[in-house]
Amino acid sequence: MNNPIPYGRQHITEEDIAAVADVLRGPMLTQGPTIGAFEKAFAAYIGAPYAVAVSNGTAALHLCAMVLGVGPGSRVITTPITFSASANCVRYCGGEVHFADIDPDTILLDVDAVRRLIESKPRGYFAGIIPVDFAGYPVDFAQFRALADEHGLWLLEDSCHAPGGSFVDAQGRTHRCGDSSLADLAIFSFHPVKHIACGEGGMITARTEAHYNHLMRLRTHGITNKPGDFTPPYDGEPERGGWYMQLQELGYNYRLTDMQAALGLSQLNRADQMLARRRAIAARYDAAFAGTPVQIIVPPAGVGHAYHLYVVQVDDRKGLYDALRAKNIFAQVHYIPVHTMPYYQQQGNVPGSMPHAERYYSRCLSLPMYPTLTDDEQQFVIDAVLDFTGA
Ligand SMILES: *Cc1c(COP(=O)(O)O)cnc(C)c1O
Repeated sequence: MNNPIPYGRQHITEEDIAAVADVLRGPMLTQGPTIGAFEKAFAAYIGAPYAVAVSNGTAALHLCAMVLGVGPGSRVITTPITFSASANCVRYCGGEVHFADIDPDTILLDVDAVRRLIESKPRGYFAGIIPVDFAGYPVDFAQFRALADEHGLWLLEDSCHAPGGSFVDAQGRTHRCGDSSLADLAIFSFHPVKHIACGEGGMITARTEAHYNHLMRLRTHGITNKPGDFTPPYDGEPERGGWYMQLQELGYNYRLTDMQAALGLSQLNRADQMLARRRAIAARYDAAFAGTPVQIIVPPAGVGHAYHLYVVQVDDRKGLYDALRAKNIFAQVHYIPVHTMPYYQQQGNVPGSMPHAERYYSRCLSLPMYPTLTDDEQQFVIDAVLDFTGA
């Protein structure tokens, strides 16, 4: 039997291992210089003014929801086709999650469905929108920005699937996923199946210094030790020594370690090369499935897909899943629509309310997509899929 072929996996080189070992031999395991170096390099890669490293993508979402002011009574719109953390971050802060349906051509949150939802309620009803660059297909944030500005909403981009992705707006300007040129904040994950693996890890990219400073404080308990940031009223420290710091608001310990940052930084050096390999794998799948019953998503010109996932849609999804599994190919389903999860049904959502998302879910399967997938392995996957579908 062939080796198992997963849907995604990390790629660790000797350079990556050496980078982590260097940190272990050094003086600081957490909050040392590697964190700042990783943040700087990541911000440059994405094209964002600021980046804040955190312990995982979910922590990144949580801190963004805090900074954007989500609290009890806040209503936030997101997509049902995402990892549940995109919605959960609103609940952590006591807000309400509202779902709008997807566009069946892109599988992304449908801006027209969001507009209809917003316009069905009084002005001021919703606080913000969390679109997701699902599978690595970039959301057109120019459209969402226009809608958000019209209604006074904030935008948080869940870009976990799309570092390196981009789209071209109607004026011909290129926007990179998560660059915060149109969204207020964006987040990334460094879970091993994502483009860059830290084991666990996350990043927030921000446009304003105010957001950056706030996020830096929140990721470390809400504490600051910068004299310029100290606030009254406590004045019993007439001669503040070097030990002095202030807990200014309730934050968390959401820090990344220097070992993880070293791994991320080392992987970031190969990001362009890995993205090119993902795109080459996608192009080969596209060519193999064109004109067959295997439905694929081919983005139009100007859309720089980042291919975290390669999703196909077929009528007998369970059959295909089982047939691949019998050949040691571990395809996966992304995602069970979040609004149908028992927890979100308890919050008042009902199955049947998002027909495009639910139909997509009934037919979708993510095929193996990772830079070290070999040509032979990919051909084996292609043959297995085409055998099953009888093409
Ligand atoms: C992976 C992922 C997250 C969460 O990231 P973690 O680092 O696993 O916490 C959030 N949103 C999306 C779309 C993801 O794929």
